[in-house]
Amino acid sequence: ATDFGIKDALNQLGVNPINEGTSTGSNCFSNGELIESNSPVDGALIGKVKSTTKEDYEKAMKAATSAFKTWRTMPAPQRGEIVRQFGDKLREKKEALGKLVSYEMGKSYQEGLGEVQEMIDICDFAVGLSRQLHGLTMHSERPGHRMYEQYHPLGVVGIISAFNFPVAVWAWNTALAWVCGDVCIWKPSEKVPLCGIACQNIAAEVFATNNLPEGISCLINGDHKVGEFMTKDTRVPLVSATGSTRMGKIVAKEVAGRLGKSLLELGGNNAIIVTPDADIKMTVIGAVFGAVGTCGQRCTSTRRLIIHESIYDKVKEAVVDAYNQLRIGNPLDENNHVGPLIDTDAVKMYQNALTQVVEEGGNIVVEGGVLSGEGYESGCYVKPAIAEAQPDYKIVQHETFAPVLYLLKYSGEVENAITIQNDVAQGLSSAIMTNNLREAERFLSVQGSDCGIANVNIGTSGAEIGGAFGGEKETGGGRESGSDAWKIYMRRQTNTINYTTELPLAQGIKFDL
Ligand code: NAD
Repeated sequence: ATDFGIKDALNQLGVNPINEGTSTGSNCFSNGELIESNSPVDGALIGKVKSTTKEDYEKAMKAATSAFKTWRTMPAPQRGEIVRQFGDKLREKKEALGKLVSYEMGKSYQEGLGEVQEMIDICDFAVGLSRQLHGLTMHSERPGHRMYEQYHPLGVVGIISAFNFPVAVWAWNTALAWVCGDVCIWKPSEKVPLCGIACQNIAAEVFATNNLPEGISCLINGDHKVGEFMTKDTRVPLVSATGSTRMGKIVAKEVAGRLGKSLLELGGNNAIIVTPDADIKMTVIGAVFGAVGTCGQRCTSTRRLIIHESIYDKVKEAVVDAYNQLRIGNPLDENNHVGPLIDTDAVKMYQNALTQVVEEGGNIVVEGGVLSGEGYESGCYVKPAIAEAQPDYKIVQHETFAPVLYLLKYSGEVENAITIQNDVAQGLSSAIMTNNLREAERFLSVQGSDCGIANVNIGTSGAEIGGAFGGEKETGGGRESGSDAWKIYMRRQTNTINYTTELPLAQGIKFDL
């Protein structure tokens, strides 16, 4: 467990390895049963974290609501200054946090660093945003009146995150929520609790330096039962939840039942359309990274390649050839392309998908399988697989969170490929590889992709923080990160001011006393 500087990284992050519970000195409200965090990299126990009881949760809520009273009155640009300092702390701890992400979640060290870089980027974005929380002014229909709108903070924002982006998703939410004047309670995935503690420690340090209450950021730990404390709680006006569609449907119902707001970032079933005019070399790089990066465990991972029949064999050959060169192993070793799946349950789901695609009539072109032997002791390492399939197979319609890529063939015009691409329940990320302007524009038009993200000559996987991130249909409809995604973290108020001695009514209504 000390290989690749993990022990040092944990020390730097103040995360006590193999301990009796949570770290000290941070606003982590947990006294319940212990959750174990085992690394999918080598199967070792990294540490134990206490989960949050209902009583602990009440304490967290008290700390958060009390901190909100201070935080909301601080001018937004000053809150931005705190977020700037938080971003700087992340810069200092980038290597250590990137390493912990890689070791606890299993993605490559490069991707771990990338995740921390995303946190830094969103902090920078949020700092600028803190001076741009603009509302509009309107012309009143009544003389001597002025009308405008302003945005106020919401209060306590609940954040529920998935295992596959253990730190970045929290930062996307929290950096914006903080400059908007909200305080946050975060429940990370129970599969990666140490990443949560590391982040909380970093935030706590910044708040302490500035004599601010740490309740601006609260951490709670545990599984869905702990998540439910927030979804059922009317003191949480907004729940931002990232994870499976299954989870999203439950959370949406729970939060809507009390007329709260939810921001949902759920599963995808992302496709790349490869037209006869595609640059094959670019296509292969985009498709292979998209399908096997993070071991196929990104919400934007490429699941389907929709290839024109005229170039089908050529593309298939090139992709298969690239798969044969993949090195699978310890993700902290930068020579490897593909790390492990998160746990052995994920391995079972991957195996089931491969069985099912064959049962439905699919043809395996790159064999999968679970790796064993030296370096693979955790039992979580699998071979990325490729199957030729039909678009309507049940398994193709479903998001399998593992490196299984389906090759689908289309004929005729690009419209046919777009129909296949849209004909799934999910609507997160999509891409077209083409040098044909008509095809590209068609894909981006109203008759084109129905996804929240539509790319041209880029794969489906990964996104920049500057744009609003999220998807349609069963992906949940939420938008996070850049553009105007900040608005969901605030409440809008319309103000009309009368500076005359008359009281004219709107719509010219007469009411004489
Ligand atoms: P998951 O749904 O199993 O868990 C996600 C989080 O929700 C965890 O913290 C979990 O404890 C919590 N949770 C589960 N049930 C809950 C309930 N009833 N009430 C409250 N909280 C509950 O997902 P996962 O396996 O951690 O992550 C993988 C999934 O996340 C994939 O489907 C992936 O596509 C999706 N994902 C989506 C995005 C996006 O931005 N669209 C980003 C990352 C991951």
